[in-house]
Amino acid sequence: LLLLAISPPALIFYRRALERRLLQAREIQLLECRQHVAALAAYLVEREAIELREELGTGHFGCVRQALLRLPGRGSRYVAAKALRENVSPAEESEFLREACTIASLHHEHIVRLVGVCISNGPPLVLMELAFFGDLLNYLRARRHLAENVERTDQETYAPVEEAAHVSGLELTRLAREAASALAYLGSRGVVHRDVRAANCLVDARRSLKLADFGMARETVVGAEGAPEYACRRRAMFPVLWMAPESLAHGVFSAATDVWALGVLVLELVTLGARPYGSMSPLRVLEYVAAGGCPPLPLDATPKTRALVQLCWQREAERRPSAAEVHSYLTARPRALRAALRIEQRPADADSGI
Ligand code: ADP
Repeated sequence: LLLLAISPPALIFYRRALERRLLQAREIQLLECRQHVAALAAYLVEREAIELREELGTGHFGCVRQALLRLPGRGSRYVAAKALRENVSPAEESEFLREACTIASLHHEHIVRLVGVCISNGPPLVLMELAFFGDLLNYLRARRHLAENVERTDQETYAPVEEAAHVSGLELTRLAREAASALAYLGSRGVVHRDVRAANCLVDARRSLKLADFGMARETVVGAEGAPEYACRRRAMFPVLWMAPESLAHGVFSAATDVWALGVLVLELVTLGARPYGSMSPLRVLEYVAAGGCPPLPLDATPKTRALVQLCWQREAERRPSAAEVHSYLTARPRALRAALRIEQRPADADSGI
């Protein structure tokens, strides 16, 4: 309607101005890409050194495959190769490489490691350490199936769920502690992850957790009241079920919103990968959290699980514990968490149609 109200010469003028802006944006993104490549110089590997194998999964940027990396004089090792799908915009290529830059700058035993980057002869490939058990959500859900089957078929000699699923409280608590330690490290580096959840964690061959997916991570900036926070202006997709009230209401992210998400991750751990908020639609979750709600807990959640998540889900961000405090809490209570699968069904919430 606005365009119709503008005279044809003015329209041509605006179109040219827009084209110039787009061209500038493209140049800036290409420049950004070149800067990212410069930052990744130490990680560059030739395509001939990489032998792609079976697919591990598909993500936002494209397919992730297992690959054998052969480096002259340094032997060979299996890695996970993340490929950028073809015909992407410079903006997406820049974002893809920026994630690699972020991971390259982080060094922690519970954060996935960057192994290499390949930008020669074809679409870019990012090589990361291979996590033997894949992502944490699938790892947990595979165990829940096992638990449910045992529960159904073995009524007579009913074994406690956690034994049947081979997921001890000790292991669940350790996984939560490892996530907290990765977040405490990020906090010390001034990085906010902004997308903490089981699907974004990996499990290696030693069943140790590695925080991954730094696509939404940002360095913190100082907000209006002097508190470090990040206000998102650009991103269209939000992980609503893991977001703190202030992120949902104002698009503000901080170390404290990562701690809220850590609480939701704890819930995913104890329910062995159940969807937070059951069948509530994202829109309903938004209203529910705005009205003061937080994720419902399973009926058989232990008192220590309840105490921990309720601390992480305090409305006022300043009252939430730091990730380092959550880490200390779990270190002092190595069996604080236990599998809790008695999830209350609430018919009123079954409105996931949106
Ligand atoms: P997204 O972009 O959707 O967050 P990714 O592209 O990072 O997801 O990964 C897609 C899937 O590939 C993951 O869910 C996981 O199953 C698998 N995957 C990713 N990275 C690794 C890795 N380093 N080791 C093993 N599996 C991986």
